[in-house]
Amino acid sequence: MKVEEVLRSINNKDVEFIQRMVKVEYDNKLQCPLKFVYQKREYKTTEVLGIFKGDLSPGDLAFLVKAEDENVYLLYLHFFDSQPPGFIYPGYWILNLRVLRDEELMFLNREERKMLVNMQLKRMADFHGHLCPDLIIGCRACEMALEILSKKEEVTGGFSVIAENNSSALDAIQCITGCTLGNRRLVVYDSGKHKYTFIMNRSGFAVNLSLKEQRFGDEKIYFQLEEKILKDEATIDEVSHFRKFLDDRVKKLLSLKHDDLFETVKTRRKSPRTETPTVFSRCSQCGDMVLKSKLLNRKGSFVCKPCFEMLIHIPSPATYN
Ligand SMILES: [Zn+2]
Ligand SMILES: [Zn+2]
Repeated sequence: MKVEEVLRSINNKDVEFIQRMVKVEYDNKLQCPLKFVYQKREYKTTEVLGIFKGDLSPGDLAFLVKAEDENVYLLYLHFFDSQPPGFIYPGYWILNLRVLRDEELMFLNREERKMLVNMQLKRMADFHGHLCPDLIIGCRACEMALEILSKKEEVTGGFSVIAENNSSALDAIQCITGCTLGNRRLVVYDSGKHKYTFIMNRSGFAVNLSLKEQRFGDEKIYFQLEEKILKDEATIDEVSHFRKFLDDRVKKLLSLKHDDLFETVKTRRKSPRTETPTVFSRCSQCGDMVLKSKLLNRKGSFVCKPCFEMLIHIPSPATYN
């Protein structure tokens, strides 16, 4: 079970709540629980799926672990605020829950299952690793652009894509259209915009899509949670709550009409130049071989981009006549 699925299950309460104090063998060096004893049975942990902040007192931790029995458990380590006299341990462990397995969930989450029955989505999620809003935006951009292009002419003649961001959307484009970074039919100018231009190679007919502003109504709490997660300050409930927000966004982005998603402009432009990477030349600074068209002129000598950027920060020696 992948972490995302576990987080969904926790947020959906597809879990068996246990909430028992348990004995845990903890590896101080690895900083993870090695095994725990529950109902007189010993469970060795095989993998730590995630470590989160606890929620009782500061310093508390929550460990999401997979055990030998293939189940996923959540263990809380609570620290005493002030140590009771005679106590040698600074805290105690609670076995909080077990995540229900797929077989147990057979009749739950019908909606989500239906969502993944869509084969294109399934293929894309496998390629990218998960379903996320940016991936869906890329997918919807492809669908819409291909629809527009195919009304105009045969799409089989080949086309290229220019994307203006460096997000998960790129994987959707590569997976759906076959325009990849490798075959240079996908070109990325990362300006942090959800803008995509699809260009027919032969005719130069092009359509430009830019994402309209989307409101999900949860922005405030969404960004608060995102910030907490980025700072590693989120509890598992917060992380699974955030997962739910992402899933809701995915669902909404899938349900919107094309026109509610993108502004489109039909235009004409040349395909991005896809040079053949054969002509290499030496950088006069570092000596690396560099694609000739990527060399930059620095006071008459040709250098690579990293060298160019380094050199402009070094003042050139004063010259005397
Ligand atoms: Zn993603
Ligand atoms: Zn160089």
